[in-house]
Amino acid sequence: MLTNKNAPTFIKITKIAFRFITYAIILLFLLGQMFLPDERDIYSSNNIDWQPAWVQILPDGSRVPIGDTTKVERVKSGETIRFETNLPEHITTGTCIGIQSTWQDITVYIDGAYRYSYNTKDSRLFGTNSPTRLVMVNLDASDSGKRITVDTVSHSTYNGTVPDTILGSQTGIWVERVNRYGAATLLEICMLLFSIICIVLCGVLRFYFKEKFVLNYLAWGVFFCAVWLFSGSEFRQLIFPNVSLLSNLTFIALLSIPIPFLIYMNEMQNSRYSTLYTCGMGYTIVVAVGVNVLQFTDTRSYLETLPLNHSTILVAIAIITFSTLMDIKKRHVRKYLLVATGIAAIILAGIMEMFSYYIFEDKRSLMLGVFLSPALLFLLFMAVIKTAKDIFVAEREKQKALLASKAQAQFLANMSHEIRTPINTIIGMNEMILRENTNENTTEYAQNIQSSSKMLLGLINDVLDFTKIESGQLELVEDSYYLAKLLQEEINLLETRAKKKNLKMYLQAPDNLPTQLYGDELRIKQVLTNLLTNAVKYTHEGSVTLQVSGTWVETDKIILTFEIIDTGIGIKKDSISKLFDSFSRLEQKKNRTIEGTGLGLNIARHLAELMDGTITVESVYGKGSTFRFSIPQKIIFNEPIGDLAEAYQNVRQKLLNRKQKSFLAPKASVLVVDDNQMNLVVIKGLLSRTEIQMETATSGKECLQLTANKKYDIILMDHMMPQMDGIETLQRLKQDDTNPNQNTTVIALTTNAIAGSREMYLSYGFDDYLTKPLEAWKLERGLLKYLPDEYVTIINIENEGETNMNETNTNQTERPTDVIDRALGIQYCGNSEKLYERILGTYCRQGREYQTQLKTFVAEKDWENYRVVVHAMKSSSLNIGAEAFSKTSLEQEMAAKEGREDFILESFDTFYDNFDSLLAIVEGQLSN
Ligand code: ADP
Repeated sequence: MLTNKNAPTFIKITKIAFRFITYAIILLFLLGQMFLPDERDIYSSNNIDWQPAWVQILPDGSRVPIGDTTKVERVKSGETIRFETNLPEHITTGTCIGIQSTWQDITVYIDGAYRYSYNTKDSRLFGTNSPTRLVMVNLDASDSGKRITVDTVSHSTYNGTVPDTILGSQTGIWVERVNRYGAATLLEICMLLFSIICIVLCGVLRFYFKEKFVLNYLAWGVFFCAVWLFSGSEFRQLIFPNVSLLSNLTFIALLSIPIPFLIYMNEMQNSRYSTLYTCGMGYTIVVAVGVNVLQFTDTRSYLETLPLNHSTILVAIAIITFSTLMDIKKRHVRKYLLVATGIAAIILAGIMEMFSYYIFEDKRSLMLGVFLSPALLFLLFMAVIKTAKDIFVAEREKQKALLASKAQAQFLANMSHEIRTPINTIIGMNEMILRENTNENTTEYAQNIQSSSKMLLGLINDVLDFTKIESGQLELVEDSYYLAKLLQEEINLLETRAKKKNLKMYLQAPDNLPTQLYGDELRIKQVLTNLLTNAVKYTHEGSVTLQVSGTWVETDKIILTFEIIDTGIGIKKDSISKLFDSFSRLEQKKNRTIEGTGLGLNIARHLAELMDGTITVESVYGKGSTFRFSIPQKIIFNEPIGDLAEAYQNVRQKLLNRKQKSFLAPKASVLVVDDNQMNLVVIKGLLSRTEIQMETATSGKECLQLTANKKYDIILMDHMMPQMDGIETLQRLKQDDTNPNQNTTVIALTTNAIAGSREMYLSYGFDDYLTKPLEAWKLERGLLKYLPDEYVTIINIENEGETNMNETNTNQTERPTDVIDRALGIQYCGNSEKLYERILGTYCRQGREYQTQLKTFVAEKDWENYRVVVHAMKSSSLNIGAEAFSKTSLEQEMAAKEGREDFILESFDTFYDNFDSLLAIVEGQLSN
């Protein structure tokens, strides 16, 4: 948490004082320890300042003084070398002589009598030399001034090393060691702990983020360095029981060091120099294996192969330095600048370490790792910061992407809602025309509107499906369905299109398939429509076949397989893998005239997977493709389907009978709340035959006003409304104890039915929900469920239709004008004058837009769009009863269709003026 900037003054002052005191204490500690006198007396009082003058005793008994040399010359490996000197006078009991063995076995004699021996021959697992150790020999007062003989033997180049001794109490000797090597050891322990923490951290991060972190490799590298240094530490003999094994581990750790560093740096550099790194790793592995084989076969000890070992480190350093320099040149280094800084520190430390090795020749063991350890710690620290930064950036990007995709999904959902609302109105209105109209021409036009609007709706649904799939919101709606109906409808849907391209269309299904199944009919059809549409789209001659087969897996379960076989353009082998990617369209150039979004197959595959099914493809380029779509389905009615056409007719009849049932409920009162006037008109129009008392509200506020005074039987409430939406309105209504509609059935109306919609609406207190487009049967079925039984009389629609017709005839009181036959228009509006008035309003608004469009399209000679507009004008003019103008529009439409440009150009002005006057008349009627 950030500090609070508005804290009271006293607390602010306390904070500053606290900070000041903390710094003062640290400073006092550091300066005091550095500059105040040394008060310790353990070391000074116990250790004896002794500079022994060693002599070498040769095998023939002759004595050779050693002088200042640290190693005697001309010594064979494994030869015992004897050193002698005199102990100082006045030795007190409890004094020790500490002899640093350097890979040597040591035997000590005082005045010729054996006193102590150090040799790990019996306790070591492998190796020929005893590891370096401080050998402690106890002395007492009687040893003062006596002769001390030290026999040393080693099978290494260290044979002949003159004993390095220290005299004092055991405590004194160790205090002296701590003084000398304490800081270096502390650094080694820090490295060890830090690397272990990083390794554990990487494990945790991997578990949490489900991805590997390369920091892990660097942490292992530093860990091996720490093991190498710490296992060679001066204090190892105090901690570990078996030092021999430890000293071997030192070498193994050293051999392992290059590999993790190389892997890490290769990753950092995005494998730009992977060949170089592969060589480096290969060399290290070869050396490591070779060196170990030599050691375990006792051919050459680790100590002897140390130069090889060092060479792997040098090679690694060279590769890393070279590749980093190249990256600096190519400016790639910016991506891992922190790590590169760490690497620079390591190189610098390495150079200093080497220099110190030669400059402080006598203090080599003291200097080991003094520069390297902090540099390694620094590198690891930098790498941790880089990882943290990467995680932070990735998280921020993820959040941004998430927000963006949320915004995008929201936008798409909103857009589809906005677009679907008017389309639904069109479909709803059109459904009314189809149901109530008797004019054949009009029926044809209405059917065209129906198919176009449904296609448009399909396109929008595709986009919405895609967003739903992307966000995991798509859910199946399963119900029983008739297989014959499903198949036949698919074929009907595609047949016209196939015919237009002169393609043959076949449906092949064995007659033993079950009649009725259980599954998501709509989604199965969606997949099939997509595959069949593609087959027709991408086939220029030949045929498209839908072949169905079934495999019974249980008595009530079948695997349905639909094969869509075409003789089309086919798909190249290497493109098949890309086929199901979203927005992927193959051979764009070649297929540019074929419309599509590249979303279809992606959605189809997701839908198939959602249904526990699969889609596979086989294709021969240039010859054709076979898409195979398989899904498991439950069997509801196992009777064999028999002849498909016959089965389809039976089902149709059954469903028709079901649909023809309707009801009357003149006593029921229903309130419809929707901000969209057209929706209100449509719902009222669709329910008019039920004689329900309908009232409407155009906002949540109006709904609350109306419901406060009157009890309704059902309220239909739109979800998405400006200001107060459906949910808020319902909640306010339920909270108002004085509202008589607290227990009224409220049904939500929505265009966005997604997975969990039902639960969502129920949780908000709705009793049910209905999805738009609202068709008559859907609305009636929805209301019938909740209307009190005593209000409802089930009727047959055909009778009802007749009554309407009679009423229409007697109601024809309006005198038709020359241009507009108002009565005809009202008849088209289900005899609703109100609905007619509304349609006139829409006609005017739309008409004025058409006028502008007409002018533009003529100027641009865009006859295709011109045709679309005059086609729409033709239908809508007929709808308001402007029959004559509708015919003129038809002439224009035909001319546009046939490309008779001259005719259009000649007649356009008159046509436009006629339309203008028609609109003026309509506007006149409206204002009356
Ligand atoms: P589109 O909307 O472009 O048809 P799809 O996802 O349905 O999108 O198909 C993706 C691509 O796969 C198409 O653009 C087309 O190149 C190729 N494709 C799909 N079906 C067939 C087929 N039956 N024959 C040849 N190519 C096909």
